[in-house]
Amino acid sequence: MKATAYRPKILVVEDSKVTVKVLTGYLAGMGVEHPLVAETGMQALTLFRHEHPDIVLLDARLPDIDGFEVARKIRQSEQGEEWTAIIFLTAMNSDEDLARGIASGGDDYLVKPVSETVFQAKLRAMQRLVEMQRKLVEVTRKLDAANAELQRLSTTDALTGIANRRALDDFLSREWRRCLRMGKPLSLVMLDIDYFKLFNDKYGHQAGDDCLKKVAEQIARAAPRASDLAARYGGEEFMLVLGETDADGALWMAERVRQMVADLKVPHYATDSKFVSISCGVVSVLPDETRSTETLVQSVDAALYQAKRGGRDRVAAGEYGKL
Ligand code: GH3
Ligand code: MG
Ligand code: MG
Ligand code: MG
Repeated sequence: MKATAYRPKILVVEDSKVTVKVLTGYLAGMGVEHPLVAETGMQALTLFRHEHPDIVLLDARLPDIDGFEVARKIRQSEQGEEWTAIIFLTAMNSDEDLARGIASGGDDYLVKPVSETVFQAKLRAMQRLVEMQRKLVEVTRKLDAANAELQRLSTTDALTGIANRRALDDFLSREWRRCLRMGKPLSLVMLDIDYFKLFNDKYGHQAGDDCLKKVAEQIARAAPRASDLAARYGGEEFMLVLGETDADGALWMAERVRQMVADLKVPHYATDSKFVSISCGVVSVLPDETRSTETLVQSVDAALYQAKRGGRDRVAAGEYGKL
């Protein structure tokens, strides 16, 4: 099926009623009925703002501000990919006038009187350009949306919907540099579900996935600040990056998340509480040039190991560099 042809909206700016009549006749001859008409420059600009025409047929000599000024104002008001076709239609026929028209923003310049054939041919050519521009804008919008979606997908963990490992690495190095510049501490919490292999073995992989989603949701809820990030590190392990946060603050946060997960009361036969629990390692550091995020991650892994060894379902504080 053929799509219905796009009909551009046309604004005729012309102070001579006779010329308006001639042009309206030409337009009707090519199927364009009732174009917008302005008799002064100011009227033209007002109509332009309210009606957003696609093509402006612009007389150069007008009673108030001249057509060149109107064209300049139209160009100034266009934003982003917006473009309006402007055709000067004037009795001023010197080369300089033509050059002035194009310089002020015109796309074409016709000298009056203009024949119906030439007028219609020029307008058809301009309609093609307008249509091409519309398609281009549409394709650009679709591309922008697709890029945004790709960006989102490449930084999001598919199962839980929270940040993935790649986003974590990015965020951690950015937050590290920011805290370094500001002389502020940065904390990292590593969280790991207790006896999760046994959970999967007993309740099935689907129940395991559901559990991961619920736990991830609690961790994300605990990290709402712009300087915080909750991420899935891999498998049943998560990370909380806490910018501008010292050891006390980070320990408090980790304990809060541990409690939030316990409060989910997801049954688990293998834990002491009989509900799903997590263990957390916490390390705080004042970033400086001699230190690195790699050592911070290794240190927090060691702290998590201490929490596991200590009996699980608990928070253990580690030390930067203590592996
Ligand atoms: P610990 O208390 O010492 O952490 O014991 P654990 O069983 O939790 O640790 P282990 O590393 O031995 O097992 C992790 C398990 O997590 C292995 C796998 O069954 C489960 N797991 C990892 N990723 C996923 C996932 O995407 N979905 C599901 N359902 N299970 C996962
Ligand atoms: Mg005039
Ligand atoms: Mg585990
Ligand atoms: Mg693990």
